[in-house]
Amino acid sequence: MSAGFRHVAVIGLGLLGGSVARAVGQYLPDAVTTGYDASPEVRARARELGLADTIAETPGEAVAQADLVVLCVPVGAMGPAARALAADLPAGALVTDVGSSKASVMRALTEALPDHAVIPAHPVAGTEQSGPDAGFATLFRNRWCIVTPPADADPARVADLVAFWEALGARVETMDAEHHDLVLAVTSHLPHLIAYTIVGTASDLEEVTQSEVIKYSAGGFRDFTRIAASDPTMWRDVFLSNRDAVLEMLQRFTEDLTGLQKAIRKGDGDTLFEHFARTRAIRRGIIEMGQDDARPDFGRSDHNGAR
Ligand code: NAP
Repeated sequence: MSAGFRHVAVIGLGLLGGSVARAVGQYLPDAVTTGYDASPEVRARARELGLADTIAETPGEAVAQADLVVLCVPVGAMGPAARALAADLPAGALVTDVGSSKASVMRALTEALPDHAVIPAHPVAGTEQSGPDAGFATLFRNRWCIVTPPADADPARVADLVAFWEALGARVETMDAEHHDLVLAVTSHLPHLIAYTIVGTASDLEEVTQSEVIKYSAGGFRDFTRIAASDPTMWRDVFLSNRDAVLEMLQRFTEDLTGLQKAIRKGDGDTLFEHFARTRAIRRGIIEMGQDDARPDFGRSDHNGAR
């Protein structure tokens, strides 16, 4: 079996956990899977869906036989979730996670599990949905997964984790946790903050304008609403845990926004045109790397925005 893991335990069975469990079932069929979620309703639904071979009633039961544990809980819950399973974790098990910020998760996990191998990771793949019904086995296919090994990580264990994510279909890059947080602050966290802001601004407008905002949303607003529909718990935790990098990127963004504001005020079309031409090239780069759909309107199949 690829990646060498015989028993994978998934803690947290929402979008990411459900997808990891499904993907292991599909792409690593020889591995045994166990799952656990703090919510009894989610555990019951996970059983109905057959997300893992066994859905355990306690975190300890889920990890007792595991050689790989994948924590798929909100970033702020990583420490408590790791502490809850520490006593039952086999000595040789590797612990990883899928959290969207990495430096704070690395600290939380190594504090909770000082005697275990911990190698955090972040599959840069997801949707605005959450919960056990939202996941699917192909979520990671052709998406990047960033593995952030601590400086003293055993290279053989890093290789095992890289092989695991590759088996699930991901392309894998390794980098240190601080660099990850800076990169993701601009590629993911800041865009979410902007989307939450602009959708919030629109929802504060008086009622008649609001209905027009919805009616004419295909003008651009609609694409922000998808991002702004993302899970509030997850994103609260992301901003609290990646505070410094987000604030640094926000500072740069504010300066650039002020520059564009000035260009508009001064009627400086050249500055606006140069800026927009540069950003268009970035979009082309994303399409060329296979990270989005080049069809007009993101390949939406009808006027309702169904994909
Ligand atoms: P989700 O669908 O809300 O699933 C998280 C699940 O974890 C929930 O069922 C939650 O139960 C459970 N949980 C919370 N605390 C727990 C604990 N201490 N022990 C066991 N289970 C616990 O969220 P998600 O979108 O899968 O996100 C999970 C992680 O993936 C986050 O760290 C996020 O940053 C990361 N991530 C998300 C995306 C994305 O697009 N969504 C992409 C990449 C990475 P309750 O609902 O009862 O709290």
